[in-house]
Amino acid sequence: MGSAIAYNLIKRNPNLKIAMIEKDSTYDHSSTVRSDGNTRIQFNLEPNIRISQYGLEMLARFSEEMAVEGQAPINTNFRQQGNIFVMDEKGEAYARTGMAKQKELGCEIEWLTPQQIQEVYPLFNPDSCVGATLGRQDGTMSPLDVLRGYRRKAVSLGVTVLEDSVTELTAANGSMTGLTLASGQQLHAPAIVNAAGVWCNALYNSVGVTLPITSIRRQVYSVAIDQSFDSVLPMLLLPTGQYLLHEGGNHFVTGGAQPTDRATFDDSGWSKSDFEENLWEGLIHFLPAFDRLKVLNGWAGLYAVNDFDGNAILGEWPEIKGLYMVNGFSGHGFQQCHGVGRYLAECILQDTPAIDLSIFSPQRILDNAPVYENPARLI
Ligand SMILES: Cc1cc2nc3c(=O)[nH]c(=O)nc-3n(C[C@H](O)[C@H](O)[C@H](O)COP(=O)(O)OP(=O)(O)OC[C@H]3O[C@@H](n4cnc5c(N)ncnc54)[C@H](O)[C@@H]3O)c2cc1C
Repeated sequence: MGSAIAYNLIKRNPNLKIAMIEKDSTYDHSSTVRSDGNTRIQFNLEPNIRISQYGLEMLARFSEEMAVEGQAPINTNFRQQGNIFVMDEKGEAYARTGMAKQKELGCEIEWLTPQQIQEVYPLFNPDSCVGATLGRQDGTMSPLDVLRGYRRKAVSLGVTVLEDSVTELTAANGSMTGLTLASGQQLHAPAIVNAAGVWCNALYNSVGVTLPITSIRRQVYSVAIDQSFDSVLPMLLLPTGQYLLHEGGNHFVTGGAQPTDRATFDDSGWSKSDFEENLWEGLIHFLPAFDRLKVLNGWAGLYAVNDFDGNAILGEWPEIKGLYMVNGFSGHGFQQCHGVGRYLAECILQDTPAIDLSIFSPQRILDNAPVYENPARLI
């Protein structure tokens, strides 16, 4: 988010003085590089769908737009394998409402009967659901390369990167004045964007603000089965919240919420036995062939879960001028970097937004007015 915003700002106004402060430029623990890199048009709220549509436009020209003279082109390895959201009876009405909205906005979306799911996904047990939605434009890519693209281009246009840790934000008379770094340096600025992911509240607390965000560890597993496929299968998202991403051949990546998910800011360890105890059986119910598999590897990352309504919190905090928020993306922040990066730049520069995302304003927290994608399940 930080790199996408910095790029969008400097692109609009090359005279801006922008410092991007990153405590770890390897990004090893940032949520972005630990994400699954998936994007989908399958949302119910129009602004979320529009963000995804703009994301697809950006991805089509990403390599060209992020080109920097003398450096190798960025390849995001974007592949549109499609996403299948499998529905149980409880989820069908929600899915059909979403489909109608997506169609109205020009997205490619279709309903699959259980038998049709099996035709597209031969391993699928058709008795396990009422049907599914298939979004053929949905796909996955390398999050690290998207991040590298934005950061490298922003720097080439004049953004300064400081490898340091922000220890506190400073404000006076209801306006931001700057921030302090671990190195002791003080920076003065009238506009500060807090894009610190799951760590955002540590900074907000220094100016008396706390957002309803919890940092939750989420584990991901790489598994192999004894059947192989020549072409890449769509991503499957099950009604239980578990998902399955085909990597090619007989390799898959899977994950989902587990009872062992816990609030943490620094634990990115993963456990094979958690998969065996919590996720495996659910997978076999939908995909019987997964009763024989090998867990090859795993990793974990941190979700900035917005406990209030599961959606992003975007824009200026109404009580402190110059304090810009871009937080709480829960499980869908990576894909939103294009639209949100542009929107934050527009907010800061007071330009008319190309996509109106004011529905996600932090004012809604103060008004206690949540904006749900799906009240039954935060995504
Ligand atoms: C396992 C997993 C799978 C996911 N899959 C998907 C997916 O398929 N699709 C999708 O759209 N989203 C997915 N997400 C969610 C997505 O990863 C996040 O919503 C998104 O990456 C958030 O980006 P960010 O820039 O806000 O945070 P981050 O990427 O975490 O970046 C925050 C940065 O701030 C830096 N920082 C923090 N505090 C300080 C400080 N005090 N001083 C200086 N620097 C600081 C950190 O080092 C970090 O680099 C997934 C998340 C996880 C954990």
